[in-house]
Amino acid sequence: MASNKRVILITGANAGIGYDTSYALAAASPNNHIIMAARNVEKGEKALKEIQARKPQGSLSLIQLDVTSDDSIAAATKKLTSDFGVIDVLVNNAGIAMHGEPSREILRSTFETNVFGVMLLTQALLPLLKTSKDPRVINVSSGLGSITNRTDLNCDYYNLSADVYRMSKAALNMLSACQFFHCKDWGCKIWAYCPGYVVTDLTGADERQLRIDTGADSSETSAQGILEIVEGKRDGEVNMFIGRYGQRYPW
Ligand code: NDP
Repeated sequence: MASNKRVILITGANAGIGYDTSYALAAASPNNHIIMAARNVEKGEKALKEIQARKPQGSLSLIQLDVTSDDSIAAATKKLTSDFGVIDVLVNNAGIAMHGEPSREILRSTFETNVFGVMLLTQALLPLLKTSKDPRVINVSSGLGSITNRTDLNCDYYNLSADVYRMSKAALNMLSACQFFHCKDWGCKIWAYCPGYVVTDLTGADERQLRIDTGADSSETSAQGILEIVEGKRDGEVNMFIGRYGQRYPW
């Protein structure tokens, strides 16, 4: 692959926001190369083929990556190192929201994916990010992780329970702040990004009905927000918790 391309790795790229972001970034520039990371290779291949059929200007490839597996992270890091030698943008998008009464299993699984996976993958990829001239890390968080909003009893929008998910995204926000603290010296730009309430497998409802009932939007809008960050339009908000449409969230 031509070395002048911007190399962008997106986790959880086979579905929802990751899928739409893969297309949006590939469509935006012939200089973008998108590495779609999927834990399930069959799902990843299907998504890759669908996006390539839309003939975006940029190029795409696929890599197997389960963010909860150390072996998978190590194998992907090895392959990314030999195939690209650099990561310019890391979009830590893979995430889960489990339903039901909180249990140790639900707590563990949610934190494994939404927090530990992000921390350990980013750590493994640091040498590749350090090779970039303009390294960027986007941690896909959620407004539900805002402690400030949760403690505001008048904030209706935040009435939704989902304590475990909220806790995991609050931890991800702290991780983002720690990453910024450790990485600022070598110029890595880091954001926590809320993609907004959008219809995906994660929200798990009929798209039309969810839009009518709650005003949830399409995940393409979330992807556009990520594109803006990649293109430098939110560079004045590095180390902040931001969202689409120029939004900012309190930590
Ligand atoms: P989806 O369920 O549509 O997509 C999640 C993606 O993450 C899938 O590709 C899934 O793979 C992948 N994934 C899950 N676990 C792992 C893992 N262990 N390793 C690698 N990949 C994994 O959800 P969304 O697109 O809605 O969510 C994307 C991100 O946006 C999440 O971090 C979520 O918390 C966040 N978010 C979403 C909002 C919404 O309204 N939808 C609102 C706020 C934040 P597979 O298909 O194999 O399951």
